[in-house]
Amino acid sequence: MLTAQPTASHFVDGRYHEDATGAAIAVTYPHTGAVIARLHTATPAVIELALASAARAQVEWAALRPVERGRILRRAADLIRDRGAELARLETLDTGKPIQETEVADWPSGADALEYFAGLAPTVTGETIPLGGDFAYTLREPLGVCVGIGAWNYPSQIACWKAAPALAMGNAMVFKPSEVTPLGALKLAEILHQAGLPAGLFNVVQGGGAVGGQLTRDPRVAKVSLTGSVPTGARVYAAAAEGMKHVTMELGGKSPLIVFDDANLEDAVGAAMLGNFYSSGQVCSNGTRVFVQRGIKARFLARLAERTALIRAGDPLDRETQFGPLVSPAQHAKVMDYIRIAQAEGARLVCGGAAGREGANFVQPTVFAEVTDTMTLAREEVFGPVMAVLDFDTEDEVIARANATQFGLAAGVFTADLARGHRVIGRLQAGTCWINAYNLTPVEMPFGGVKASGLGRENSRAAIEHYSQLKAVYVGMGPVAAPY
Ligand code: NAD
Repeated sequence: MLTAQPTASHFVDGRYHEDATGAAIAVTYPHTGAVIARLHTATPAVIELALASAARAQVEWAALRPVERGRILRRAADLIRDRGAELARLETLDTGKPIQETEVADWPSGADALEYFAGLAPTVTGETIPLGGDFAYTLREPLGVCVGIGAWNYPSQIACWKAAPALAMGNAMVFKPSEVTPLGALKLAEILHQAGLPAGLFNVVQGGGAVGGQLTRDPRVAKVSLTGSVPTGARVYAAAAEGMKHVTMELGGKSPLIVFDDANLEDAVGAAMLGNFYSSGQVCSNGTRVFVQRGIKARFLARLAERTALIRAGDPLDRETQFGPLVSPAQHAKVMDYIRIAQAEGARLVCGGAAGREGANFVQPTVFAEVTDTMTLAREEVFGPVMAVLDFDTEDEVIARANATQFGLAAGVFTADLARGHRVIGRLQAGTCWINAYNLTPVEMPFGGVKASGLGRENSRAAIEHYSQLKAVYVGMGPVAAPY
C-alpha cells in the first residue's frame, strides 16, 4: 500500500510539529484516490508559534553576511539534487503528475532557484549619490516576515521559488501549501534545516483559505506572496492592503499562442501540446488559446491529432507514462464541465473529450477547433488538458483578439519571420513571453503576469526587489543651514 505520511503536519521553529486538535486533512494519491497521508489544519496556536518564531529568527538572519546566507541555500540545492529520486516520487504521489515530469521539472527547478539566489545574495548592493559636499546612499533591506501561499499544481517548485529569494534577502517565511498538496513543502523545510538554516526561518503550516487569511492579516507579516487563482488573488490582495503589506500575485491565465503560416509545423504543434497537456494542462502559463493562421490550419490540426493520439496516459509512477490524472475529483468534474460547455456552444471536437479510463481523475488530452472568441472555452481558465484552436487571418486582427481578455500572464508566437516575432510580442499584453518556444521558465528569466494575472515577478534579479525595500540615507557633511 502506498503511503507518504510525514513525521507531523507542520514544520515550525526548526522541527516537525503536530497539533491533532486541528481539522483533519486527508491527502490522496490522484491516480487511485487512496489516502496516502493524514494531516491536521493549523490551529491558532500553531500559527502563533510559526509567526513568533519567524519574527524572532529573522532579526539574526538579516544580520548575517549575505554570503553566509547564500552558503546555506546552496547546500539545500545540493541536498535536493542528491535526494532527487525520492523527492520526485513524493511529488508524484502528492500531485499525480508523471514521474517523468517530476524528476526533471519540479524539484530540479526548485533547486535551481535556491542555487541562483544563493549566488545572487552577496551581489545585491546599494548606491551612493553625490550631492555636492553632502551625499546619500541606499541600503537594500529585508522586509521581515513574509508569507508564502501555494497552489497545488507545482507545490514544491512554488515553495522553492518563494523561499529562495525571501531567505536570500534576509527575510523569514511562513509557507502555507495548498491543502490539496501539502507534502512537498514539509520536505523543503526539512532540507533547509538540514542544510543549516536556523530554526524559525522557514516554517510550514497546513490548512486552507482560513489559515491563509489568518496569516495574511497578522500585523507581524510584511509581505504575502500568493500563487493561485484570480478570485483568491483579489481577496488576498485586498486583505494585504488593509495592513499596507507588500504582495506578489502569481495568478491564472488564458494565454494566447499564435502560430503564423510560416511557422515550423512540428515545433508549433509540439509547443502547443506542451503548453496544453504537460502536467495534464494544470499549468498557469499554458497557451490555451492557440490562434492558428488559416493557411496552416489544416496541416496543424492533422499533425496535432496524430501526435496527440500517441500520448501515453497511465500510472504516473510508471517511467513510460507521459500523461497523468488531474489532481482531484473536483478538478476532474470542473474540466469535464468545460468540455460539455464547449460542445454545447458549438466548438468542434478534434480529439479526446472523454474521461480517461487509466484510473481516477483522468481526462483525455482534448482539442477543440473552430473555437470563437465569445465561447466560454476561449474566455475562462480551464486548468486541464483542453486546447482551444482559433482561426485568424491577419497580424493586427490576432493581436487585438489575443489582448481582449482580463488575463495577461503569458504569450507565445511561432513564426520563421523573426522581425514579426518581436513585433507581435511587443504588442501583446503579457508578462512572460516566448518566441518559437513555449512554457520554458528558467530561473534566470523573470516570471509573472500583467492585468488580472498578477503583480510582481518571481525568479531572476527582479525577484530581489519584491523581497526587499530601499532605505535612503542622506549624510550631511557641513553645518546645518537653518533660517531660524
Ligand atoms: P486557489 O486560488 O484555489 O488557492 C491558492 C491558495 O490560496 C491555496 O493555498 C488556498 O488554500 C489559498 N487560499 C484560498 N483562499 C484564501 C484566502 N482567502 N486567503 C488566503 N489564502 C487563501 O488556487 P488553486 O486551485 O490551488 O490553484 C490553481 C490556480 O492557481 C489557477 O488559477 C492557476 O492559474 C493559478 N496558478 C498560478 C501560477 C502563477 O505562477 N501565475 C502558478 C500556478 C498556479
